[in-house]
Amino acid sequence: MNERMLLQLRGLRASIAGKQVLNGVDLEVRPGEVHAIMGPNGTGKSTLAAVLAGKPGYEVSADVAQLGGVDLLGLEPEERAHLGLFLGFQYPVELPGVNNTYLLRAALNARRRARGESEIDAYDFLQTIKGKARELGFDEALLARNVNEGFSGGERKRNEILQLAVLEPRLAVLDEIDSGLDIDALRQVAAGINRLRSPDRSFVLITHYRRLLDYVAADKVHVMRDGRIAASGDMSLVDQLEERGYEWVGDPQPALVD
Ligand code: ADP
Ligand code: MG
Repeated sequence: MNERMLLQLRGLRASIAGKQVLNGVDLEVRPGEVHAIMGPNGTGKSTLAAVLAGKPGYEVSADVAQLGGVDLLGLEPEERAHLGLFLGFQYPVELPGVNNTYLLRAALNARRRARGESEIDAYDFLQTIKGKARELGFDEALLARNVNEGFSGGERKRNEILQLAVLEPRLAVLDEIDSGLDIDALRQVAAGINRLRSPDRSFVLITHYRRLLDYVAADKVHVMRDGRIAASGDMSLVDQLEERGYEWVGDPQPALVD
């Protein structure tokens, strides 16, 4: 096992409701790297994120699927989270009756317990989270509200970034964190991602559009087609996609740049 690899996927396959969606995904992410996964609608990007996080209902197999050298597929979603995996949802759900700050503290304390660390009390947590909210340009009033209830699209996505800032994962998979954002919200979300980048935190950014990547420079760019990574390269691949669309990707000899 390569010690330097944070996420290692080889031959990841998944089906749901009798439909094969992932057809052998190969992906390697090192600590500190930011990877972008682009690709047309319906190609399996959200399925990849869901399967990594351990969402039930999929039939999943892989030659290799490891986070930090630990096999993921046998683990419950919360065990994956405790290993340092975070999933930011494409469509963050409303949780009526669940206070935003309460949920964040419960999530953080669950992870701290799993690591044998002491819990953080309500007062200390409130101070911490207010500081993080301010840093991220997030309206503090939203901390006291119920999770995503009545939040605008931009507020929901900023709340995902706030969760990320609180949980401090080793790998954050953000599924279309840029969708539905106006330009100011996009800038704030991108600034949040850049602020949270670090040598021991990696990101997989799933996105349709280059606009997020105008603000967050990815180390590697991948194109997904038909349930597998059909091409990989650097940011110049984004320009090629802009010019040529997705159709050419995955033709017999894909451009593979390491
Ligand atoms: P993307 O995120 O790239 O747009 P998805 O991963 O959401 O694509 O979906 C990939 C394919 O899997 C689509 O054809 C979609 O209809 C199908 N799919 C996703 N979830 C289900 C499900 N619960 N039941 C049946 N088909 C599904
Ligand atoms: Mg999707």
